[in-house]
Amino acid sequence: MTQRAISVSGLSLSAPIPAGVPAGMPAGIPFDRLVLPPAFLRRTVPNARPLRQIRPLQPLPALLEEIRACHACAEVLPLGPRPVLQASATSRLLIVGQAPGAKVHASGIPWDDASGERLRAWLGIDSATFYDASRVALVPMGFCYPGRGGGGDNPPRPECAPLWHEKLIGQLTNVRLTLLVGQYAQRYFLGNRRKASLTETVAAWREYAPDFVPLPHPSPRNQPWLKRHPWFGHDVLPALQERVGALLASTKPRARDAQSARKDSTMTKPAIDIQRVYEPLPEGGHHCFLVDRLWPRGLSKEKLANVEWLKEVAPSTALRQWFHKDPEQWTEFRKRYLDELNANPDGWQPLAEAAAAGHVTLLYGSHDTQRNHAIVLREYLEKKLQHK
Ligand code: SF4
Repeated sequence: MTQRAISVSGLSLSAPIPAGVPAGMPAGIPFDRLVLPPAFLRRTVPNARPLRQIRPLQPLPALLEEIRACHACAEVLPLGPRPVLQASATSRLLIVGQAPGAKVHASGIPWDDASGERLRAWLGIDSATFYDASRVALVPMGFCYPGRGGGGDNPPRPECAPLWHEKLIGQLTNVRLTLLVGQYAQRYFLGNRRKASLTETVAAWREYAPDFVPLPHPSPRNQPWLKRHPWFGHDVLPALQERVGALLASTKPRARDAQSARKDSTMTKPAIDIQRVYEPLPEGGHHCFLVDRLWPRGLSKEKLANVEWLKEVAPSTALRQWFHKDPEQWTEFRKRYLDELNANPDGWQPLAEAAAAGHVTLLYGSHDTQRNHAIVLREYLEKKLQHK
């Protein structure tokens, strides 16, 4: 056995490493830099002992703020950065998914879609419990919507987990169970303890207890998998529900739901939605702003009677016409529009004030829902609000 230094939640440890331990290490993290929940470490490396504090831990709220401001792969994110996650130092259950889909990106609430509904049903917990960050941490492998490819959503951005997971998960020292939802989380956390396929890894779930439970993705697209593997419903889910129930029952609940989760400080963004002005407008509680310079063709003033028109916040006519001619210049358009916003605080200030006070929806007319100025504007406002 060799003695090696490892970092656990900011502590440097020295421990004799039993044969085979590296096999359980998350792929891609050098063992010397590994951060693991202490309970996992105690079982895996029984004689681990603290040596010295190597650096003060960054407080979790500050770390979450830093994540919210991350633009590391902004250039390749079709809707721009919008990290979506929740976490608290007291979270006991950690759910590691893949990456937000377009709907979650729009709402800013993790698992706020059909997959989330099914996942909550699998776990036997309601929304109030699920969105209680003091009990449940929701940390995907990629924090921002990665866009779509030929076969559905793209994989989580590869930059994200190496950049943030070690720091973030190392702070979740009360986590007792980690659910690995989908192949990306399983590859990262189980390394070569994974089996040859996701099905085999899930079927071997008992091998990973008590720290991990590997799960398939609860997406409706996986319905055929669930039909082909009825043992998952018969064997895995009852055991999982029992474990999760016991784990969360021992913590004090905080009455919350998805709606109140929007305002939680551990959520990652203020509530600013964007949508095409031609879609049905949101009901009740939303302050709607039209952020185009031109009035949308075919819509009457009566139809948008409750909408405030802020044309001065839109891109200049010259910039709009330039981008209209060549939408492939998206990156350059973003840059130029951000410059215009910086030079025009009077244009966006009313939006920032409204978003600080409540739920805001930005309306735009463009057919292109992946590349338009409202996306850039929301990103800009969110940054401004976070630094208030
Ligand atoms: S996906 Fe991750 S690395 Fe990329 S911008 Fe979002 S938070 Fe940053």
